[in-house]
Amino acid sequence: MRLKKKSRLILAMDLKDEKRSLEVCNNVKDYIDAIKVGYPLILSNGLDILTKIKKFGKPIIADFKVADIPWTSEKICKLATTNGADYVIIQGFLGEDVIKTCSKVAKIFVVAEMTHPGAKDFMQRNSLEISGIAKKYAYGIVAPATRPESIKKIRKIVGDMIIISPGIKVQGGKVGSALKAGADFEIIGRGIYDDKNPQSAAKIFYNKIEDNFKR
Ligand code: C5P
Repeated sequence: MRLKKKSRLILAMDLKDEKRSLEVCNNVKDYIDAIKVGYPLILSNGLDILTKIKKFGKPIIADFKVADIPWTSEKICKLATTNGADYVIIQGFLGEDVIKTCSKVAKIFVVAEMTHPGAKDFMQRNSLEISGIAKKYAYGIVAPATRPESIKKIRKIVGDMIIISPGIKVQGGKVGSALKAGADFEIIGRGIYDDKNPQSAAKIFYNKIEDNFKR
C-alpha cells in the first residue's frame, strides 16, 4: 500500500500492549495517513502484529532503524516486508552499501538525523551527506521536527523526495512546524497514544494542520 498525502499525519505506535495498540489505531485511523510500528510493539508481540495493524487500511512503516552489515540488514528488511510492512526505516550512517542493499528488497526510509539532543554529538554533522546518498536509493528520508532548520537543509539536498518527521509535541516540535520547514508528513506517537482520549488528540492535530496547510 502506498503512502498518500491526505492528513499528513503518521501515527508512531510504540505501545507494548497489542489490544490497546489496536484500539488506538482503530480510533485514530480517520486522522492519519500511515502507521509507523516500532520495536516495543513488535518485540512484545512478534511480526504478526503488522498484519493485524494492516487491517486498518493504512500503509505500515516498520521502524527497525536497521543498522547492521548489508547481509544482516537485507535479512531484516525482507522479514519486515514479507510480514506486511510497506516501508522499512533504516539508519543512514551505516553507509552507501547498506542503503543500496536494503533498497533492493524494500521501500526504505533513511534516517538522516535523529530528533534527540544526542544526535548533535555525531549524526548532525553528517546528515546532509547521508541525505545525498539516500537520495540515490531511498523512497524517503526521516528528518527531525525538533530541528526545522535541519529539515530545510535536508530538503535542499533531496529535492522532491518524501520527508517524514518525528519529534512533535513530547520531544518539543510544534505541530505544523516540520511541514512548514519542508517535510511531507509529521509523525506523532505519545502525543496521541498517551492522551486520555487518543481520538480527540489526533483530531486536534489534524485540525491544526488543516488550518495551516491545504490538503
Ligand atoms: O512519541 P513520539 O511522538 O516522540 O514518537 C516519535 C517516534 O519517532 C518514535 O517512534 C521514535 O522512535 C521515532 N523516531 C524519532 N526520531 C528519529 C527517528 C524516529 O523520534 N529521528
